[in-house]
Amino acid sequence: MKNGKKTINVRRPEVMEKVQADVAQYRSHLVESIIASGNEYINGKLRISLASDFGFCDGVKRAIEIAYATCRLFPDKRIWLIGEIIHNPEVNTRLDAMGLLHLPWSLNDERYAQLTHEDVVIMPAFGVSVQMRAFLESKGVQLVDSTCGNVVKVWHRVRNYARRGITSIIHGKVRHEESIATASHSRGDDGMGNFIVIFSEDDARAVAQYIEGNGNKEDFLARFKDSVSPQFDPDIHLLEVGVANQTTMLKDETARIQQIIRQAVEKRDGSSARCHLFDTICGATQDRQNALYNLLEKDLDAMFIVGGYNSSNTTHLAHIAARRMPTFFIKSADCLMNKEQIKCFDLASKGERVCQLPPAMTHPAMQCHIGITAGASCPDNVIEQVVTRLLELRQA
Ligand code: SF4
Repeated sequence: MKNGKKTINVRRPEVMEKVQADVAQYRSHLVESIIASGNEYINGKLRISLASDFGFCDGVKRAIEIAYATCRLFPDKRIWLIGEIIHNPEVNTRLDAMGLLHLPWSLNDERYAQLTHEDVVIMPAFGVSVQMRAFLESKGVQLVDSTCGNVVKVWHRVRNYARRGITSIIHGKVRHEESIATASHSRGDDGMGNFIVIFSEDDARAVAQYIEGNGNKEDFLARFKDSVSPQFDPDIHLLEVGVANQTTMLKDETARIQQIIRQAVEKRDGSSARCHLFDTICGATQDRQNALYNLLEKDLDAMFIVGGYNSSNTTHLAHIAARRMPTFFIKSADCLMNKEQIKCFDLASKGERVCQLPPAMTHPAMQCHIGITAGASCPDNVIEQVVTRLLELRQA
């Protein structure tokens, strides 16, 4: 029997006063003063340009406030967080210091069995799957929901597809928390809806090929075995499709994927009536990508992308920049090891590695123009630390 409590609003006026002090640690006077100077900072021969949009989005700010407010409201309870509230190591470490406990994404873990109605569980900004929410409600825990409204909008879209018998094609990372949750919602109210998660244009072309009647069923199901709803039959479930995407994907890639799918349906049916397109990339992701494209028009020597390596929107920023110029994707100022070396995330090998810093970057007599941006989960104080560390290395 479902014995769930209602989710609770923890952002109450009396709590938020204290929370404002908690979250002030993520602000930066230096970053605010750079913004006030037109996003430019000049120190000797070093020029730093910040993107016009970077760092914390409203959804992330809200999720962090909710996490702190929960700690304030329930000081004597066990407070659990599913996974990470957002994908940023700085924020997560500080929240852990408040005593938050962690639940993994798999319900098979024994920690789930320990939950009682005395526990408080925070659902992160990416949301949780329908099954996980139902399980938590059945345990009677006090749920606190920090799911971003933009993610909920995608859920509404795919649920609507399911009601109309339309299969959701979800452009996202199949193991990303948000895509897992969205896929679960695409099963619809009766749990009978269908989905396929595709990650790349190559995946989209494989789906398009099948839609056009040129695919092999066995190969298709083998390729997408971990990315489709149970009993997925491409002969039936690709007849009418609706595209949606993880909110933090690359905007131009999503546009190309939509086009590939639409053209395939048009080719098969002579019309695109059975292809429904809806761009669900959130405004914050779009703004940060657009701001980066603008920043890349400047005469930069290198780009720094700051944020968690597992942050989807930050990784996409790094991909955009790396196509155009030397790019260093770093999670914190500590990555700037010394005047010659930097630890940064390598997009190809998907791991951190030590690279050489160009001498112009750390030599005070040399002109250097650096661009900096940060993903939607990266706080300003981390950006300040990066700027300060760059100045320190030039002076060392
Ligand atoms: S990146 Fe977009 S979807 Fe994610 S929390 Fe921010 S506003 Fe919400």
